[in-house]
Amino acid sequence: MTQILCNKLAVFGVGLIGGSFALALKQAGAVGEVVGVGRSHANLEQALGLGIIDRIAIDAVDAVQGADIVVLAVPVGQMAAIMQSIAPHLSSNTVVTDAGSTKQDVVALMRQYLPAQLELCVPAHPIAGAELSGATAARVNLYQDKNLILTALPETTMESVQRVRQLWQLCGAKVSAMQAAEHDAIFATVSHLPHLLAYALVDMIVQRENADVLFNFAASGFRDFTRIAASSPEMWRDIALANQVALLAELDAYQAKLNQLRDALATNNGDALADIFSRAQAARQAWQ
Ligand code: NAD
Repeated sequence: MTQILCNKLAVFGVGLIGGSFALALKQAGAVGEVVGVGRSHANLEQALGLGIIDRIAIDAVDAVQGADIVVLAVPVGQMAAIMQSIAPHLSSNTVVTDAGSTKQDVVALMRQYLPAQLELCVPAHPIAGAELSGATAARVNLYQDKNLILTALPETTMESVQRVRQLWQLCGAKVSAMQAAEHDAIFATVSHLPHLLAYALVDMIVQRENADVLFNFAASGFRDFTRIAASSPEMWRDIALANQVALLAELDAYQAKLNQLRDALATNNGDALADIFSRAQAARQAWQ
């Protein structure tokens, strides 16, 4: 059994990500009490029943009072209001971290709403997830061997970073660090753009008159390409808006690539098509 590293953990948003974090830390024996805060009481009751949290907080103040660590695992569009509400009630040693998929916006919100707490602010993003939502989707091993990125502020102390790093390592994650801007540029390309593309394809099809027929004959390739279009629309709306600049640049780059393909197809240029397909095939086969 690991020693208790956090006597009280306050989890805002006990869904897939926050719930899995709490479960893994409980299993590791690293936390004392886990208190959950949420928008949906039914979800919190489920989290309680599943042993993800020990108690449902009466309100945000009750949740953060005396907490060693506060983790914000809500859609990024919800973070501002939560930070604003907890700011006056945080202790002088409470670490505030998050699990949001975008990081420059979270850093900016921490600067705006938690200026007195910056030494204790540790933005984080677990590179693990699923298209499932809510406490019932939480899994104790979600973070096993997955990457976790910390984007500390210049003000964040080494001690704060270390406290959060230790917790994620106990969840099985491989922790690394980078600047928030670099993080957002990388994930615009490899995560946010693919989600937009999957949503776009499924939406294009569902608006067709013969959508039923199309879905009926769609098979494994379609399933692989579009799995992530089953993800939470609220979460992905917030991510897209929060990473607007980088995502617009990636959409433009993708559109240019589509135009290359279109030109090759329109001019019966099989060599050009094969060039693109071969380069992509080699890269995809090398990536695992
Ligand atoms: P989720 O929908 O499973 O859980 C979010 C929870 O937050 C829900 O239970 C919801 O009721 C609650 N919530 C919403 N607004 C709230 C508010 N104002 N106050 C308190 N609770 C509130 O979503 P998730 O997948 O766990 O995502 C949580 C965060 O993690 C998001 O910021 C997301 O960008 C990030 N993230 C998600 C994934 C993924 O693949 N799902 C991966 C990495 C990071």
